Amino acid sequence: MFVILGLSDSKPEITKSTEYINCPNCNNQRFWNLIHERTNFSLFFLPVFPVKDKYYIACPVCNYGNQLTKIEYAERINKIYGN
Ligand SMILES: [Zn+2]
Repeated sequence: MFVILGLSDSKPEITKSTEYINCPNCNNQRFWNLIHERTNFSLFFLPVFPVKDKYYIACPVCNYGNQLTKIEYAERINKIYGN
């Protein structure tokens, strides 16, 4: 019997942040995107459980950005939704 195991990336979750940032790369002023990327352990190509989370804040024009910690990301999300 074949068992197919692997890692798969789920579609990144993108939230518009409330931070209006002047991008040092493309010089546009925009509300940057908060991005949550998740890598899942998968079985037969179906995601079973998450193994790695990555968080970023990035320019919506050129995708230049910085990686965030989970805490930094959560603080920004909380600011948007007012929790
Ligand atoms: Zn940019």
